[in-house]
Amino acid sequence: MSNKNKTIHEFDFNLICEYFSNVERQGPGSPEVTVKALGFIDNLTPQSRIADIGCGTGGQTMTLAQNVSGQITGLDLFPDFINIFNRNAHTLGLSDRVNGIVGSMIETLPFGKESLDLIWSEGAIYNIGFERGLNEWKQYLKKNGYIAVSEASWFTEERPAEIYDFWMANYPEIDTIPNKVAQVQNAGYVPVATFTIPENCWTEHYFAPCCRIQEMFLKKHAGNQTVEELIAGQRHEMELYHKYKEFYGYVFYIGKKI
Ligand code: SAH
Repeated sequence: MSNKNKTIHEFDFNLICEYFSNVERQGPGSPEVTVKALGFIDNLTPQSRIADIGCGTGGQTMTLAQNVSGQITGLDLFPDFINIFNRNAHTLGLSDRVNGIVGSMIETLPFGKESLDLIWSEGAIYNIGFERGLNEWKQYLKKNGYIAVSEASWFTEERPAEIYDFWMANYPEIDTIPNKVAQVQNAGYVPVATFTIPENCWTEHYFAPCCRIQEMFLKKHAGNQTVEELIAGQRHEMELYHKYKEFYGYVFYIGKKI
């Protein structure tokens, strides 16, 4: 039984990976937002060491690299994403200072203690959990180093049951912005900045490219239940966003290690 499950699991994993390999971003965001978040970070030099954790295929990492100096390491669990990441870095002429590696954010990270000037993570820290990520990753940051992450957050104290239930089933660590800021502070950072990412990060930069590939992907894997479920889940997520976007979204949290 365990073998059978493993095969199914790996099959799912490959399909999910194949699906998201077709889009530039694997989560909501935009180049403008990456540059805006970067505007709060003032310690970078050509000697800086930066990690982008859960980098995906590197949409935001390439924007980072084009706007800062320093060495950037992207880390992601999916080898196919890292292959695309490194190919993109090469195409953009960035491979001398941008390198993607396969690894898990939940394990010990391949960075020295107090070796990093900046930890970046867009739409990915939820995989380890916001508080755990803030606490565990701090050890890799130099004193006065920065962390900049985007994270699903509630915009209001109350919200309709349908969207509340969706998030409780998918990521119960979603919380209000003041509570998240308190978590940043409690983890040993000065909360430097917080801003909500605009709607076009979801619609134009995330959902629209996904919509463009969904029909093609369904056709290619016609009759495949995993693919049908994956796309149905994506479409559901998109409908919920349109219905409840005043109640939640992604928020950038920027902290400076004390
Ligand atoms: N930062 C990218 C990707 C966000 S999607 C963007 O904004 O486009 C979340 C990413 O986290 C995916 O690329 C997924 O492969 C990665 N991921 C999931 N679990 C992980 C883990 N345990 N360790 C490292 N990366 C992980």
